Amino acid sequence: MNRPARYPSETPIFLATLLVVGGVLVVTTGLTVCVIPVILAVLVMFSYQANQDHHRTLMRQAIRVPVDHPTGENETLDKLGEMVRECRYTLGCEPVEMFIAPSQQVNAYTFGLDSPKVIVLYEPMLQIMDADELKFVIGHEMGHIVFGHTWLNTLLGGMAGMPSSLGAAIIFTFAFRWWNRACEYSADRAGRAACGSTLKSISALAQLAVGDINTAEGLKRALAVIEREDDSLENVLGEVLSDHPMIAKRIKALQDYQR
Ligand SMILES: [Zn+2]
Repeated sequence: MNRPARYPSETPIFLATLLVVGGVLVVTTGLTVCVIPVILAVLVMFSYQANQDHHRTLMRQAIRVPVDHPTGENETLDKLGEMVRECRYTLGCEPVEMFIAPSQQVNAYTFGLDSPKVIVLYEPMLQIMDADELKFVIGHEMGHIVFGHTWLNTLLGGMAGMPSSLGAAIIFTFAFRWWNRACEYSADRAGRAACGSTLKSISALAQLAVGDINTAEGLKRALAVIEREDDSLENVLGEVLSDHPMIAKRIKALQDYQR
């Protein structure tokens, strides 16, 4: 196993987020300690139900990757299954399910409260990414699983379905996005460990940002996007509203981690 260390700021940011959210709940709802188990139970119920629905939709609309052993029916899917097994071994990750979902976007995500967690890759990734870049993406998603982001995020996603005041909802959103962005840096480290190459990690990140970079035009587009990501007020505000850090910062964090 070669699991990397978590991004150092992640845990303090998570604790600060919990403090902010807990404080807001106490102030806005007069929440007392004995209500917390009730809120948690409702959250688990909401999240579990949403997960089950999402899983059923994937079973209908997406292609399931054979992650335990090759089936000999589809070479591409068998190769993906092998990558999943390799990444699991590298990161010491629990069993997962993986689906390829139809989409126009280049993206991936993971969800689940109990085991196995589910990793979903959008179909265009298979066209534009090579094996190492795909391993970065699979490793990144497994990073979210091994660092505990997946179940926490799935649980907190259930919070969106709970009634709260607009002010509280805005504060929750900002706080969780701050933590989400820190989690991305940890997951990128796992992706880097899974694919074994900082260069491939960076090209995978660039493709997640702009799509195909295998053409001269695509590469130019990616470099232009990364170049624009400076510390201007507009970019910094945009990042505060986002659950992902700027690509340029993620690349820099990977380069710094490599040293
Ligand atoms: Zn992520």
